[in-house]
Amino acid sequence: MRMSKLLMPTLREVPAEAEIASHQLMLRAAMMRKVAAGIYSYLPLGYRVLQKIMRIVREEMDAAGGQEVLLPIVQPAELWHETGRWDDYGEEMFKLSDRHQRLFCLGPTHEEITTALVRNEVRSYRQLPLLLYQIQNKYRDEIRPRFGVMRGREFIMKDLYSFDRDEQGLDESYWTMFHAYQRIFDRCGLKTRPVEADPGAIGGNQTHEFMAIADAGEAEIVYCSSCDYAANVEKAECFTPPTDPVGREDPVVEVATPGMRTIEDLEKFFNRPASEMIKTLIYRGGDQVAAAVLRGDHAVNEIKLARAIGCLEVELADERTIEEVTGAPLGFAGPIGLKGCKIIADPAVMAIESGIAGGNAVDVHLQGVKPGRDFTPDAVVDIRKAQPGDPCHCGEGVLQGARGIEVGQVFKLGTKYSVPLGALFTDEDGEERPLIMGCYGIGVSRTMAAIIEQCHDVDGICWPVSVAPFHVDVVPVNYRDEQQREAAERIYQDLTEAGVETIIDDRNERPGVKFKDADLIGFPIRITIGPRALADGQVEVRWRATGEEHLISLSEVVSHVQDRITRAIADSKSTSRG
Ligand code: ATP
Ligand code: MG
Repeated sequence: MRMSKLLMPTLREVPAEAEIASHQLMLRAAMMRKVAAGIYSYLPLGYRVLQKIMRIVREEMDAAGGQEVLLPIVQPAELWHETGRWDDYGEEMFKLSDRHQRLFCLGPTHEEITTALVRNEVRSYRQLPLLLYQIQNKYRDEIRPRFGVMRGREFIMKDLYSFDRDEQGLDESYWTMFHAYQRIFDRCGLKTRPVEADPGAIGGNQTHEFMAIADAGEAEIVYCSSCDYAANVEKAECFTPPTDPVGREDPVVEVATPGMRTIEDLEKFFNRPASEMIKTLIYRGGDQVAAAVLRGDHAVNEIKLARAIGCLEVELADERTIEEVTGAPLGFAGPIGLKGCKIIADPAVMAIESGIAGGNAVDVHLQGVKPGRDFTPDAVVDIRKAQPGDPCHCGEGVLQGARGIEVGQVFKLGTKYSVPLGALFTDEDGEERPLIMGCYGIGVSRTMAAIIEQCHDVDGICWPVSVAPFHVDVVPVNYRDEQQREAAERIYQDLTEAGVETIIDDRNERPGVKFKDADLIGFPIRITIGPRALADGQVEVRWRATGEEHLISLSEVVSHVQDRITRAIADSKSTSRG
């Protein structure tokens, strides 16, 4: 490819709307342009990267036994009514109607379509397991599209659906996909960590998210410093190490606490640490009201709380509810004497022997409160959010915190879709059973952004060889100079013929502009043809990511570069896990 012909409108300025590195660089390096909020066009360079990622995904899905299909983006409402998700999916679904007022949606995901296909086409256990996948645009009307293609409203996803005859088969499919995902991300040069995740509203049981570790990540994860445990904080279990009770039996004493509403206020006032405070938060979940009681230095995990109460979602109760339940305004709730609500206590709070709690009256707190003696919870369950520094349940390590970008997720669905959609097969004994399903997604466009988050510096992107738009940028310092031009053209020709993806900077630009573009776009290797080295029959070969530089003779440069690129690609395949 010739740069003089390429649509490559690089930008020197950082676009104001882009907050994170990948978004800025995808715009600056001419990878994409915005069309509307969360909707983008890919330019030639960006599309080449996407295609590289898609090729890696395809190779690994095929190797894992997947069969590629292409399902429609426009999906009839009727199918979604069968699973109840037409209403449940919520505002994220783009809905539309045709000229006859029939309702459709733009597919945010394809469980319904795939399961309906399989229910019509698969009859027998002999056809199982069946793994169908596609790579295609998905549509979600995200409430906050942001960070470029990281959270788009139109984005590219690889989604695979597995159909098995039993749980054991599902388990095999699940781990096959899990390992394929590790290989895919490794081959893309992306450092990821699989973490245990919360199954949430989609239902089913086991699930892992693949997190690319990056400060720009929206997800909070914790991992153990000593064992393999890693989880999304939404899911992470909290381990409360057993303590030896001292056997304190302090009396409960009312203390006037004028204007003290927050834990920090109380820490100062009582000169006691937050770990000795008993925090009571009033929540509403469905038609229930519940008090979450936990240590002052701990935070509620609302997903765990919802599960403890047995509802889909919880939210903090409004002031009126709080007054009804506690008899006091916001800020003075305590676990003693609550009316009309369940008390859900965290195990860690139960270990407090003499704590400080709200007095359920204005400007009153209680000292000497002992959970179990002074109030009896309806349930003692883990409802707190894991935080860095917590002990791991392995008993050895301490949890570390990190931020992650969710680039993929694997999910055991069970019969969540096959039962409502009636996707059955006939087993060996002639019995009809529902198919046991799993679903597995990779955000292809988000993966591209995540790679940039991990692989960039102040000058621009540093593409891993396996996904780079071109491997080599051939840069004659002065293209008008006949000697330089001829040497550059020959290297370009020979590399291209040798199968190395090469671009030549044949623009009549100043060398500074060419070098800046080369660094910004991030071709792994730049070959510079300048007057001084050329006088000695040499050119300069420079690696973008490391800055490693060599002078190589004209006669050897093609085989040298070809060899290095071939090795880099082979390495990306062989060092991958799984
Ligand atoms: P998130 O929690 O980030 O909204 P999700 O859990 O809803 O994602 P899934 O339904 O698991 O997403 O979709 C599979 C993959 O598709 C995700 O792991 C992610 O990489 C990608 N993805 C999901 N939503 C978006 C989006 N709005 N823009 C780009 N990629 C997305
Ligand atoms: Mg997900």
